[in-house]
Amino acid sequence: PSVWEDIEPGEVDPILSISDVWKADADPKKLNLGVGAYRTEEGKPLVLNVVRKAEQAVVSDPGTNKEYLPMTGNAEFCQLSRELAFGKSSTPVQENRVVTVQTLSGTGALRLGAEFLAAHYPCKLVYLSDPSWPSHLTIFNKVGLQVRYYRYFHAESKGLDFQGLISDLCSAPQGSVVVLHNCAHNPTGCDPTLQQWRAILEIVVQRQLLPFFDSAYQGFASGDLDEDAASLRMFSAAPGMELLLAQSYAKNMGLYGERVGALSVQCLSKRVGSRIEGQLKALIRPMYSNPPIHGAAIAAKILRDKDLYEEWKVELAGMAGRIKAMRQALYEELQRRKAPGDWSFILRQIGMFSYTGLTREQCEIMTRKHHVYLTMEGRISMAGLSASRAGYLAEAIVDAIK
Ligand code: PMP
Repeated sequence: PSVWEDIEPGEVDPILSISDVWKADADPKKLNLGVGAYRTEEGKPLVLNVVRKAEQAVVSDPGTNKEYLPMTGNAEFCQLSRELAFGKSSTPVQENRVVTVQTLSGTGALRLGAEFLAAHYPCKLVYLSDPSWPSHLTIFNKVGLQVRYYRYFHAESKGLDFQGLISDLCSAPQGSVVVLHNCAHNPTGCDPTLQQWRAILEIVVQRQLLPFFDSAYQGFASGDLDEDAASLRMFSAAPGMELLLAQSYAKNMGLYGERVGALSVQCLSKRVGSRIEGQLKALIRPMYSNPPIHGAAIAAKILRDKDLYEEWKVELAGMAGRIKAMRQALYEELQRRKAPGDWSFILRQIGMFSYTGLTREQCEIMTRKHHVYLTMEGRISMAGLSASRAGYLAEAIVDAIK
C-alpha cells in the first residue's frame, strides 16, 4: 500500500471551491458571485486596456530578458508600489525607512510578513477582524502565531461594530499584531470612517500594537487611489509608528493570476530597515528564491509612465463605478419586489463585496434552488453581477428569505 494510504483529504477552500461547483452546474441561469473577481457587464473576465498596452511594451522592449530578479524583486516596481501606497511625499518613505520587497501577490506578502513576525517579533498574538478573509487565519496559524479576533461586524445594523472593535483592541495585550483592511473590508464591505480610524490609531499607539495593513483594493473601493490609502497614510504618519503593509495588484490592475504584490515594513531608521531587508531575503531565498518578472514589469510600466498611469486611473474608476451601479441595481430590484427588511446597507457597504446577512440555510437555497453561488456566510461579489442579472438575484434573495 502507499505510504499515504490513510492520508486525510485536504480541507476544501471555502471560497475557491465555489468556482469548481459553479463550473459543474449545467443550468444556464447560474450566477457566480463567490470568488472576488471583476466581471464585465457581459459576465466576462476583464483585461484592462492599460495592461494590454503595458504588456505589449514590455514584451517588445529589446532590453527585456528572462534573467532572475534579485530576491527582493524588481526594484523600480518596489519603489513605485511603496509610493503608491504611502504617497510620494511620505516622511518615512523619504527617510528611507520603509523597506519593500516584491511578493507573490497579496497572499505572498501576508505570508512573508507573517513569517517575518514569527521569526523576529516578540509578541505572538495576532488580532483579526471578526469576520475576516479566511486566508488570514490560516496564514498566521501556519507560521505558528496565535490568532484572536476583535469585534467588527454588527449583525443588526449590518455596519461596523465600532464600540466592540474599540473595546476589544483596548484589551489586546501590549505589542499584539493587529491586521487592518485599509479599505473595502472583505467580507463585510464596512470600513471605519476617517474619524473612527483616528480613534483606532489612538488605541494602537496607546497599547503599542503593531498594525499589519492588508491593501488588496486600493483604488477599487472609491475609485480613487489616494482616498483608499487614507487609513494607511494616517497611521504611517504617526510619530514612532512601525507597521507592515501587504499590497496586491490582483484587483486594481486585474493582474490576478500574474501574482503581483509587495510587502513593506515601515521602521524607525534606515539602519534597521536594511537589516529587516536582509532578514526578508533570508526568508525568501529558501522559499521561492526570487519572484517572477512578467507581472511586476507590467505594473512598473503602468506606475512609471505618466500616460498609462492616467489611463489606469480612468479604468480603475470605471470598475469601481460599475460595482457601485450594481449595488444600486440590486437594491432597486429588491425594493421593486418588496423584499422584507431594510436593504439600504447594500448601498452603504464599500468595495467588491456585500455581506447580505443571509443565513447558511438561506445561502443553500440560493445555490441549490436558484444556482446563485455565494459564500456560505452570505457574502456576494458585487463585481460578478451584471445589470441584466440583478432582477434574477433579487428574486432569489426574496425567495430564500421567505
Ligand atoms: N487580502 C484580502 C482581504 C483579499 O480579499 C485578497 C484577495 N482575495 C487578498 C488579500 C490577496 O489576494 P491575492 O493573493 O490574489 O493578491
